[in-house]
Amino acid sequence: MSTSRFAAMPDAQGFFGPYGGQFIPPALKQAMDDIDRAYEEIRQREDFQRELAELLADYVGRPSPIFHAKRLSQQLGGAQIHLKREDLNHTGAHKINHCLGEALLARFMGKKKVIAETGAGQHGVALATACAMVGIPCEIHMGEVDVRKEHPNVTKMRILGCKLVTVTRGAATLKEAVDSAFEEYLNDPANYFYAIGSVVGPHPFPKMVRDFQAIIGREARSQFQAKHARLPDIVTACVGGGSNAIGMFTAFLDDDGVQLVGVEPSGEGLDKPGRHSATLTRGHPGQLHGMACYVLEDAQGVPAAVHSIASGLDYPGVGPQHSYLKDVGRVRYETASDQETLDAFMTLSRVEGIIPALESAHAVAWAMRIAPTLTADQHILINLSGRGDKDADYVAERLGL
Ligand SMILES: *Cc1c(COP(=O)(O)O)cnc(C)c1O
Repeated sequence: MSTSRFAAMPDAQGFFGPYGGQFIPPALKQAMDDIDRAYEEIRQREDFQRELAELLADYVGRPSPIFHAKRLSQQLGGAQIHLKREDLNHTGAHKINHCLGEALLARFMGKKKVIAETGAGQHGVALATACAMVGIPCEIHMGEVDVRKEHPNVTKMRILGCKLVTVTRGAATLKEAVDSAFEEYLNDPANYFYAIGSVVGPHPFPKMVRDFQAIIGREARSQFQAKHARLPDIVTACVGGGSNAIGMFTAFLDDDGVQLVGVEPSGEGLDKPGRHSATLTRGHPGQLHGMACYVLEDAQGVPAAVHSIASGLDYPGVGPQHSYLKDVGRVRYETASDQETLDAFMTLSRVEGIIPALESAHAVAWAMRIAPTLTADQHILINLSGRGDKDADYVAERLGL
């Protein structure tokens, strides 16, 4: 019997304590239960596990290495900093790990089309990539404003052969893209597969996306142990919806000696409503997108406007498992501001020659703040969730480089 306090989560209804579940119309419940059943079947199958393992190795390039950032550690004059290099994956971030899993599951279920929304285009590109490789049609909904802003990702999606639906209603950003993609999905949930891009949404997505991302922590834990004959003191990752963080944390949840720290964006300041995206730090329990979780709401109780310099982190909700892990105190949630994140982005680039995604740079920023307060025999492991090619032009313009 497992002695793990966390391995059995969520329960059969998809709850992590009071969070998670399925807060959805009855018409969708059947579709979600079908996905759960198919997922539980496929995960037990040896042929599926073998195919996924092979693709993660030969297509994604796993295992991603752990790099000891010696110069950065020395410069900060405290703890040793190590980076789990998810930025080296095919397509440049952790998202390919669960997009591959979702595309394989959609094919196994005989679905005719995979549908998703995308904000900055990162989820769209990872999903279009996985669907091209698996050979299943893919349709991505994206707000017109984002289509104009995120041109390189839009071009990539077109090259990869997915159908791009430009959404012009309302503010024409992520929220409208979600609504539009969801409407299309509701036209035929039996034949379509809605591929959620993080550990959010109704059960079984928070469980399933976590399981597909858990490879990060499994690799990192054994790589670190092999190299240093011990575990890190602190493991940290940025938190938007929370998929790269939960993927890293899961393997360490039962290691009581390892501190786990999720880093949320405090944007332009936690005291400025609408100008941050620190859901666990400033939000409260509520419901969003079919799940119970911490949410940021305005005075009228509607999801608040959110902001982060990293467009992959500006979400007014957060994964239900993170909500639970905060309440029980197993994970601590801290914040990093836009300015600290920009500084960390430039420092990592210039001291280690690694340009991080602005999302990942939040975790680097927090580690840079804490490292000088620790000693040289202490170790911080950062999940570097993605590379910063997509952010390079923006940062250069903003800093006048
Ligand atoms: C999308 C993205 C994130 C945020 O998503 P999570 O689900 O919170 O991990 C973080 N880092 C990178 C590089 C991303 O592309």
